[in-house]
Amino acid sequence: MSLIKIIPLQFSAVEELEIMLSIISNRFKIETRLSTRPFDMTPYFNPVRSQYNANEIIQQLVTSAGDDNKIVGITELDLFIPVLKYIFGQAYLGGSAALVSGHRLHNSRYGLAEDPKLYSDRLLKCLIHELGHAFGLKHCLKPGCVMVSTTYVEEMDQKSDIFCHTCQEELAELTA
Ligand SMILES: [Zn+2]
Ligand SMILES: [Zn+2]
Repeated sequence: MSLIKIIPLQFSAVEELEIMLSIISNRFKIETRLSTRPFDMTPYFNPVRSQYNANEIIQQLVTSAGDDNKIVGITELDLFIPVLKYIFGQAYLGGSAALVSGHRLHNSRYGLAEDPKLYSDRLLKCLIHELGHAFGLKHCLKPGCVMVSTTYVEEMDQKSDIFCHTCQEELAELTA
């Protein structure tokens, strides 16, 4: 595995991502870069749901990943998959692409004062979680592990951005 590429897909706070590159690179022991490219999100908009179809976007990302790379798209648009009302992110287990949305990670969405630090903590957790799936990690039940599945931001705030010992060992094997 040679490279992790983070691609903003309609995501304005690119400087947020630059700060996270070295953390992600350290966590996976793989070089991580920001890669900007034109990507039109309009074909993935579902007017009935007023959301964007995550599965279709990931399929598009897969085609540009290249054999050795993992690609994570990051957007501030609201994402869905057909069976769920919304998602924070999506990845195929052991696949080459993942997708994360910051749309529902803002405190202001829940009637609370905006908290930029909390927002970027949540974003980092989502990125590491979805990348974990892309590398082949499944959901973990150990409290605090970044691979714990979360549906609400409150749950996300209960977990850390690091892998538990078991996930860390599994990841080492998967990326060896
Ligand atoms: Zn997950
Ligand atoms: Zn774990």
